[in-house]
Amino acid sequence: MEIRTLLIRYDEIGLKGKNRRHFENQLVQNIRYALRDFQGIKIDKIHGRILGRVNLDCAKKCVTLLTFVPGIASISIGRSIEPDFDKIAELGISLIKDKFQVSDALKFCVRTRRSNKSFPFTSKEFDFEVGSRIMEALASKGLTVNINHADFILEVEIGPQETIVFDNRVSGLSGLPVGSSGQVLSLLSGGIDSPVSTFKLMTRGCRVHSVFFDNRKFLGRGGYDKVVRLAKILNRYQGGGKLFVVPFQDIQVSIRDNCHEMNRIVLYRRMMYRIAHVLAELNNCNGLVTGESVGQVASQTLKNLAAVSCVTQMSVFRPLIGMNKHEIILNAKKIGTYDVSIEVQPDCCSVFMPINPTTRSKIKYLELDEKLFPWEELMAHALTAVETINLDDLNSVV
Ligand code: ATP
Ligand code: MG
Repeated sequence: MEIRTLLIRYDEIGLKGKNRRHFENQLVQNIRYALRDFQGIKIDKIHGRILGRVNLDCAKKCVTLLTFVPGIASISIGRSIEPDFDKIAELGISLIKDKFQVSDALKFCVRTRRSNKSFPFTSKEFDFEVGSRIMEALASKGLTVNINHADFILEVEIGPQETIVFDNRVSGLSGLPVGSSGQVLSLLSGGIDSPVSTFKLMTRGCRVHSVFFDNRKFLGRGGYDKVVRLAKILNRYQGGGKLFVVPFQDIQVSIRDNCHEMNRIVLYRRMMYRIAHVLAELNNCNGLVTGESVGQVASQTLKNLAAVSCVTQMSVFRPLIGMNKHEIILNAKKIGTYDVSIEVQPDCCSVFMPINPTTRSKIKYLELDEKLFPWEELMAHALTAVETINLDDLNSVV
């Protein structure tokens, strides 16, 4: 069986000073988890890189899985080889021949990176030695050297323990490895925005659990099914995620029937935040995440956002706050949630939404409204009926 070396690069971890080892270990653990279904893969940390040993026939599948792992800047499939000019040139020649019909004006270059400083040649000398051997063999077939506009780049990394040669690079998600920054709880609805905000926190090193406030009594099971599918898609970027489903119909009905109509949305949202706060504490999460963006809808004016977040002491992260809808949609398409988010659901506007929602909530009026219904009792009751879904267990859902 032919073995290939996966060369996995990371970027931001390098900036972390003394914590660097903690971030690297977390990334190694996440990579092992992402590749857990492949037998016999070995993952090692060497200075500034992570290396994987994989069978040739599963190397490409591994790379695809690694493009879902936050913290990885890029991945190459390479071969470990002796740092010998002739051997590397021979490999380069066969790779060029594999990829191209060497005939019409193919431009190439060699790029060496040398982290083993005791190696007796500089990177430039190495480029020259390997490059001239390849030219000797293929110049007559139309090959030329072009450092700035090469069609084919043969890369060589000479490390302290081994030398790796490769001709490919696939970009990763970058950011930080999930788990290195702790856990947060995301308010996940079936819309376009909140899956994107959930993803954003994952790439900042957080494991993100989600909570959905469900009103299936009035809106049917469709919203629930959609959110479960979205949560499952998002969990591919981290693993180990949970989705909490909170029955919300009694709270919504009570607000609708007892409070001022114009305040409804902000009152719903205050209840969501309060419940999310309790769930976050119970599950070791250090912040809430929402898909709100200033001015997107009436409930997301500066005044209304403040009137909502003041019900919790916890940090509220709103990674989309300065983004417009177009940017959010591009992100949703990239992470694979957009098509599910735009599936049509029954509209709750007619039943629960006010005709003229306030854009300038005053906290004292919201508090007066909250005296008109037994929110503490309803909240306690909702918390006894939370469904917890372990997203790793749902392999068949998506
Ligand atoms: P999205 O914001 O995901 O596109 P939306 O537009 O239906 O969904 P908004 O009315 O914009 O939601 O709500 C703002 C934010 O409040 C959402 O991004 C989400 O974080 C949270 N939220 C709203 N409804 C729910 C719900 N039923 N369950 C969980 N979170 C919710
Ligand atoms: Mg929205």
